[in-house]
This record gives sequence, C-alpha cells and structure tokens, in this order.
Amino acid sequence: MIHNNEYLIKLSEKYGTPLYIYDSYKIYQQYKKMINAFKGINNFIINYACKANTNLNILKFFNTLGSGLDAVSIQEIEIGLMAGFPPKNIIYTPNCVSIQEIIKAVKLGVRINLDNLSILEQFGEYFPKYSVGIRINPHIMAGANLKTSVGHIDSKFGISFYQIPHVKRILKNTGIKIDGLHMHTGSDILNIQSFLEGAKILFKIALDFPKVNYIDLGSGFKVSYKKKDVKTDISMLSNKITHEFNNLCKNYKNNNCITLIIEPGKFLVSESGYFLVRVNVIKHTTSTVFAGVDSGFNHFIRPMFYDAYHHIDNISNPNGCSRFYTVVGYICESDTFGLNRKISEIHEGDILCIKNAGAYCYSMSSNYNSRYRPSEVMILNGKDFLIRKRETMKDLIKNIIEIPI
Ligand SMILES: *Cc1c(COP(=O)(O)O)cnc(C)c1O
Repeated sequence: MIHNNEYLIKLSEKYGTPLYIYDSYKIYQQYKKMINAFKGINNFIINYACKANTNLNILKFFNTLGSGLDAVSIQEIEIGLMAGFPPKNIIYTPNCVSIQEIIKAVKLGVRINLDNLSILEQFGEYFPKYSVGIRINPHIMAGANLKTSVGHIDSKFGISFYQIPHVKRILKNTGIKIDGLHMHTGSDILNIQSFLEGAKILFKIALDFPKVNYIDLGSGFKVSYKKKDVKTDISMLSNKITHEFNNLCKNYKNNNCITLIIEPGKFLVSESGYFLVRVNVIKHTTSTVFAGVDSGFNHFIRPMFYDAYHHIDNISNPNGCSRFYTVVGYICESDTFGLNRKISEIHEGDILCIKNAGAYCYSMSSNYNSRYRPSEVMILNGKDFLIRKRETMKDLIKNIIEIPI
C-alpha cells in the first residue's frame, strides 16, 4: 500500500524533507512470517532487537503484536517499559557495561544475559539466588563483514564455549543458576550453516545445565536490499532448527519446557522504512554527474559506515529515461548514498526515496555539522502519524552551558 510514489510525494509535502516513513503493516507481515516459520515449536518467542529502531511508537506496536524486546542498554530497557512491555518480556544483553548498570536492570525486573566471567562472578556475589542467562561465543565467523561479525574467536562478545568449566565453577562458588543460553553471531548472515552450527553448540551446552528455561539464538537474518537480492532462507533454517530443538527438548530433563527465542532487528523493520530526501543540486564534474541531496551520513550512515547498498528511486520522475548518478549528501565529508547508480532522470527539486530505511538508520543518526535530525512518520491502519518532530536549534543547544568568556 505504502509503496506508491504519489502517496510518498504527498507525505514529503506534508511533513517536509528529509523524512523517515515506517509502514507498520510491513512490520506486521515480517513478524507473522517469522512466527509462522517456527510454528513447529511449542514455546517460541520473538524479541524485537530494538536498537534497530527505538521510536517509542514502534516499540508499542511490537508490544501489541505480542513480541518481547531485546535491549542492549539500560536506556533501551526504560524505553521498553515506557512502551508497556512487562519486565519479564524484556531481555537485556549488554556488553562491557558496569556491574552498577546490571544491578539497575535487576531492580527493573528484566531477564539478563551476561557475557563476561568477571561480571558473572560479581553478579553471583550480589545476587546468589538469581537466575541469569549467559551469552556464549561459539567461535563462528558469520555476517556480511568484520564490522558486523560478533561471534568469532577474536570478538569482544560472549563467553567462549571452552570456558564452560569456569562458568560451572562460578555457579558452585556463588550459588547462582543459569536461566538461559544466548548467542548472537552477526548481521546479514546468508549462510544458514553458520547459524545452525552455533545453535547446535548451544543445544549441546544446555544438556549440562538442567535449569535452563530459554535458549536464545540471537539474530542476523538478512533481508533483500537490491531488487533480486538473496536473503536468509528462513523456512529452511526454521525447519532444521525446529527439528534439532525438539530433539533437545525430548532429551532434556524438564521435557519440553524450554522456550526458544530469536531476536531479529533488521528482519522485522528494515523493509518497512523509506527515507525521503530532496535533490538540492545536480553537479556535472569531469567524470561524474552528482545529485546532491538535503541529508548526509548524519541522518543515514549505513552506506558510508558498512558500505551497505540501499536502493534509490526518483519518485518525482519514476518513468523518465535512466541515467547514471552518484547520489551524495550535503555535509562536509564524502557522504555517498549511492555510487554510479542508474536512476530515472533527476532534476533539482526532485524527491529521492532511499529503501530499507527502517533499521539502523534513524537510530544511528547524529547532529554532525550541526544539522537537525529529521522527523519520523508511521503509517498505521492506513493513516499517517507524525511520531517524532524534526529537531530545532533549541534541541541542538539544550545541554550547552555558557560560561563567561
Ligand atoms: C543487534 C542485535 C540483534 C539484532 O540483529 P539484527 O541483525 O538487526 O537482526 C540481536 N541480538 C543482539 C544481542 C544484538 O546486539
């Protein structure tokens, strides 16, 4: 419904540019697709990894779908609670945070996955009666590139599965129990084999810990960014996982009462998002035709940070003849959205639509170059709602303390 150029143009006129738009129906479809893929598992839960898009309204929408939440900071937990998630539906999986922050999370009543033996030991001293999850590092190289691969042997994340004997010693010394096992190996994982290997490692470790209530396989499901792009084969993956998991449940002491959790971010929200920008200038150089737009890596950093490909359409002139353009931003950096792309002929003033703008776009934005962050709109039940105002100068200087100079 939303992918209709006239409708998007209308929204750009109503709210101005640059503008983020999220289609809640697409989020609903992705959520249902994942739930259906794992319907062979009795206790299956999706926890939305909210760092992908933390707008409070997006979180509230996930809560209405029945999703839980994956949080990586105390602030994400607090936003989750504001959105109405019961604490027990939030799992906090931090990395390199202080024990003080983890104590705050205990007080808020959420589930916790610890990923460090030193913290596990300190936690055991504070809360000997508590059950916690542990994040395992399965030593698997997965994901689109090294920046997003977080389960390999040199990664800062997780407790190595070779350190399980040390985990057991800490349990003995402190009295704490292991509530769950977690892994998350990276983003944009295409090879489901790497995902399965990690899962098998967790299923095997579970046999050693008789009080495990959940196994959390993290995420990293790839979506398509280009027209004919390959994506993670969810049904093949879920078939294999379902088989292995149900086998584990049969062999497990409590028989069938383990919950399987996955926690996608990108899979659930990436394709729901559209980023609309206006073309300020067309610039011909000796080698290139540039289309310079009213945004930059301050608003949308993935192409520059990860070399991510995001499809760009000229929605003001969708049926013109195609020409080659390099689409760049307006900040004083090399902020290239798309290099040498074939796009329907662009004129100054046209609106370009950048796709897959729902995940890791607004949530990674900044005020670099002292620019305002854009506004966000959500399409819900066929209506458009402004869900975040564009910033103003007030926002930019609100924490500045002027001293007499
Ligand atoms: C970021 C993150 C996710 C989500 O990853 P996606 O690639 O967006 O699906 C899940 N779990 C943890 C612990 C994360 O840090």
